Amino acid sequence: MGSGKERAWKTQGIKEFFFTGNNDIMKVMETIVKKIDKNNIDADIIQEAGDILRRGGLVAFPTETVYGLGANALEEKAAKKTYAAKGRPSDNPLIVHIADYEDLRRIAVNIPPGTDALAAHFWPGPLTMIFWKSDVVPYGTTGGLETVAVRMPSDPAALALIRAAGGFVSAPSANTSGRPSPTTAEHVIHDLNGKIDMVIDGGAVDIGVESTILDMTVSPPMILRPGAVTAEMFAEVIGPVDVDRTILDAESGIRPKAPGMKYRHYAPKARLMIVEGDIREEILAIRQLAYAAHRRKKKIGIIATSETLPFYNYGIIKNAGTRENEKTIARNLYKVLREFDQEDAEVIYSESFAVQGIGKAVMNRLEKAAGHQKITAADIVKLQKYRRIIFVSGTDSARGPIAAELLRNQDLEQEYVVDSRGMVVLFPEPVNQKAEAVMRSVGMTMEPHISQQFEGENILDDTLVLTMEESQKDKLRSEYENIRNIYTLNEFTEDTTEIPNPYGKPLTAYGECLEVMEKLIAELAEKLNSSAEGEKEWGKYM
Ligand code: AMP
Ligand code: MG
Repeated sequence: MGSGKERAWKTQGIKEFFFTGNNDIMKVMETIVKKIDKNNIDADIIQEAGDILRRGGLVAFPTETVYGLGANALEEKAAKKTYAAKGRPSDNPLIVHIADYEDLRRIAVNIPPGTDALAAHFWPGPLTMIFWKSDVVPYGTTGGLETVAVRMPSDPAALALIRAAGGFVSAPSANTSGRPSPTTAEHVIHDLNGKIDMVIDGGAVDIGVESTILDMTVSPPMILRPGAVTAEMFAEVIGPVDVDRTILDAESGIRPKAPGMKYRHYAPKARLMIVEGDIREEILAIRQLAYAAHRRKKKIGIIATSETLPFYNYGIIKNAGTRENEKTIARNLYKVLREFDQEDAEVIYSESFAVQGIGKAVMNRLEKAAGHQKITAADIVKLQKYRRIIFVSGTDSARGPIAAELLRNQDLEQEYVVDSRGMVVLFPEPVNQKAEAVMRSVGMTMEPHISQQFEGENILDDTLVLTMEESQKDKLRSEYENIRNIYTLNEFTEDTTEIPNPYGKPLTAYGECLEVMEKLIAELAEKLNSSAEGEKEWGKYM
């Protein structure tokens, strides 16, 4: 490369790459990127983009839902180009975008009553309606169908561009087929650079999931794809509408009515699985899976929310938005899926979100991205008996904290929250200095520990309480009826070696105590690992 000839092509805007070994020539164009300000649209840029579309070229542009890949909707050849650039199967029809309501009558016939009311309420906006097509719409645009999908977007730049292009712009999402839809110009460039003429960069989109598709050729109209305009919103304007059963149900075995909905859309490269249950179960299950995956050196991702983010420790943890407002999750979903690709996640676990309002669209896209792979949280949660282990000693200043720190340093097949507590803690204190000294001699420290009184109220069924002495166990048992799993450390490890109490004795006594403790905690770890049920199961989930 770099020959005079190659440079000449470059100045024409076309580079040609010759692949030795075969005679294939792949044309790569220079994609122009132009930034626009939605509040102050540069008319020259819109003119330039409109001209490209009129000449049969491809221009990606922002809409309020996702970025669209625009082409002249009334030209057969332009549709072919669109399919080629996206790598999209050509039986998957395109949506025709208009800017003026009167234009609907040029491309659609037998427009049913109710359309005016729907358009008045939801256009411009995230609603696509399907009508019988007129003769001016080529079959290339409709994927061979007699119907045409029409939308009027609300983004001001999109509207200006549609007008500049002559009024009818077909625009599927501007991504490579099968990849998550683009919600920023960077996403478009990542997928389509060199394959299209121009990208108009209007910043991040508002809604983040594709438009609602409503089939107006049936009565009552039927939702073929959920989006920001919901069934409840339609009902208020035209009465009840039907919903295609395939939207949230993979098992139905019925062909979706929108041809595009049958493909494994929106998919990240990683295996994505949706974890379902109540939110506490989902968190526990994802924690278990993430820990197991981390131990196997798998690169895992977690789709979480602002509310649940702090509960996760392992993997690439992403905040999709807040559970208080499903719109935030819709806005971030595709971005998050793309980020996991960039960071080479191998497996992604996602929490489930409420299926209400736009949440229905979110779960629909997530399920498609997951290829409908779901995990029942309860199935995972039940594989782990203990999640929290509390060591109880007299004052929580030597034996208890030593046991806890030793256990934290064991190689454990499951994740545990390990704590220690005292029977009688008058005020919070750092650990005994001699205890700390012997721990340091074996390369550990209890520096952050502050002694704490045992309290019964946060004991759950998955808490294991281990005392140093029989009398401590008896006392706690009689005091707290809700403690189910309480044993002496000797009892639980089935090792009767007495744990000496070094309190008030010289350093050597602490050393002897540590030695016994090291043996017991190693046995404890072994026992916990041998009963870690998940070990045989994880393969299915990662
Ligand atoms: P996209 O442009 O990527 O948002 O995808 C367009 C979606 O609209 C695809 O799922 C298509 O199958 C669907 N669609 C477009 N035209 C029609 C039509 N005439 N009938 C049914 N679905 C359609
Ligand atoms: Mg798409």
